[in-house]
Amino acid sequence: MPRQRPETAAPSPPPEGWQVLSADAPNAYPLAVVFDLDYTIWDLWIDTHITPPLKRKGDELNHLTDRCGTALSLFPEVPALLAELKVRRIHIAAASRTHTPELAREALSLLLVAGADGTVRAQTYFNTMEIYPGSKLRHFREIHRATGIPYEQMLFFDDEHRNFEVERLGVTMVLVRDGMDWAAWREGVNKWRGRRGIKVGRDGRD
Ligand SMILES: [Mg+2]
Repeated sequence: MPRQRPETAAPSPPPEGWQVLSADAPNAYPLAVVFDLDYTIWDLWIDTHITPPLKRKGDELNHLTDRCGTALSLFPEVPALLAELKVRRIHIAAASRTHTPELAREALSLLLVAGADGTVRAQTYFNTMEIYPGSKLRHFREIHRATGIPYEQMLFFDDEHRNFEVERLGVTMVLVRDGMDWAAWREGVNKWRGRRGIKVGRDGRD
């Protein structure tokens, strides 16, 4: 009797075969990347850990403090990742269930990060922001309605297992364990490509 294949075995090819693309091909990437906020792009719950007002010291990069001196920063690899997505012309969205949407928007507006053309507000990277309590199914339906981007073209990063419910729509979600970073990005792109039957050729670079 043949041994069962280990779970780590490469996925079997799709019926129509793999589509092999170069890493620079636009369709080697999803059209939209969606980020949760709390414990995905920053390491706190903004509605419970932050007391307004938020302040920035001068033009200090990626650092705010609240009324009690609590610091708020994006995880260190997030600014460069956002810049890379922008270069690739990928639609960037935020989907958060926070109970303090205005405070979350204010944080993204105040946070300064280094971009390709100098310092920019983190908020400028986000083409769409859906920030309000409730099931993330609603957030994704709204992103889809506003942009027309198919769910199958959305890659989602979130730290909470319950939000896998959006995969029901066709979205690909990756669970973020220790904050968003390049490793999570690679995991997500590989998962999304696997589901779309896309392989990236050896000449490519990720
Ligand atoms: Mg979260």
